[in-house]
Amino acid sequence: MESIEFEKPETVDQAVALLQGASGNAKILAGGTDLLVQLRAQMLEPSVIIDIKHIEETRKLTKNSDGSYTIGAAVAGAEAGDRDDITKDWPGVIEGWELIGSTQVQGRASLGGNLCNASPAGDSVPAMVAAGMTVNIAGPNGRRTIPVEDVTVAPGRTCLEKGEFVVSFNLPARPAGGGDAYLRLIPRTEMDIAVVGCGVAITLDDAGVVKTAKISLGAVAATVLVVEDAAKAIIGTKLDADAMSALDAACQAACKPIDDKRGTIEYRTKIAGVLARRAVTIAAERAGEK
Ligand SMILES: Cc1cc2nc3c(=O)[nH]c(=O)nc-3n(C[C@H](O)[C@H](O)[C@H](O)COP(=O)(O)OP(=O)(O)OC[C@H]3O[C@@H](n4cnc5c(N)ncnc54)[C@H](O)[C@@H]3O)c2cc1C
Repeated sequence: MESIEFEKPETVDQAVALLQGASGNAKILAGGTDLLVQLRAQMLEPSVIIDIKHIEETRKLTKNSDGSYTIGAAVAGAEAGDRDDITKDWPGVIEGWELIGSTQVQGRASLGGNLCNASPAGDSVPAMVAAGMTVNIAGPNGRRTIPVEDVTVAPGRTCLEKGEFVVSFNLPARPAGGGDAYLRLIPRTEMDIAVVGCGVAITLDDAGVVKTAKISLGAVAATVLVVEDAAKAIIGTKLDADAMSALDAACQAACKPIDDKRGTIEYRTKIAGVLARRAVTIAAERAGEK
């Protein structure tokens, strides 16, 4: 094994310069809960590892004056789960992030790492997508901001160009009448990869009619899906039985899952509809509470 350089930049510009100047394959390190496993399994041979946790911007979780949040890419799920403000405003986002792995893993696992590992089953991603979150990317040409759903382009592959990394995330202010939820199914009680994950964010009007909805599915296609037909099925309704059936059918129709030891294609497809129904119900209850 070749030697690996280890760098701890303190600014975004230093990190970008290190990424750009790397002669071989440079890897960003946040919590390391994916990266270290992959290194030990010899799945990767980076020439340099760049630990971004010494860059202040990657480690801050800020509630802005307009009620939105800026979340550093290296903030851990357990840190976010300790915050009453974001947990109250966006319980689904926190649910997706905080259930990653064990207590030890949660103390490290970051949103940036979960997204950039680019697994179709990454648990934080469907709820981030449903909530309309965007990512702030820094690179040699400056900064750009894109929707979370545009980052992963294939299993294990992101749209990040050479020299780029995710600095932070933008989470909108919780809208009036808004509620969100994330549910996943795993074969064990914890510490497993999702067979299906479903993120939902909706808003209700005063009469309980769905005004807006975004439904996202994980682990049922090569990348996390945004199911527009599922949103259309419930917008303008009070989530009556017909609307829920249409939601279920739209989610099932969107699935293009793999067949593996965790679940057959048929099983994953059916579960996608079931989880969507349940997640929408929870999101609606939360919307009604606020
Ligand atoms: C025991 C165990 C259980 C787990 N359980 C779950 C689970 O239930 N659900 C789940 O979704 N995952 C699970 N995981 C996987 C892992 O914990 C998560 O994906 C976690 O969120 C990764 O975050 P991290 O900060 O540790 O990433 P790292 O390991 O530091 O990085 C992961 C990848 O993303 C890249 N990267 C990291 N940050 C950035 C950035 N800011 N910009 C660009 N690239 C970046 C790295 O180079 C690397 O390729 C588990 C892992 C273990 C070891």
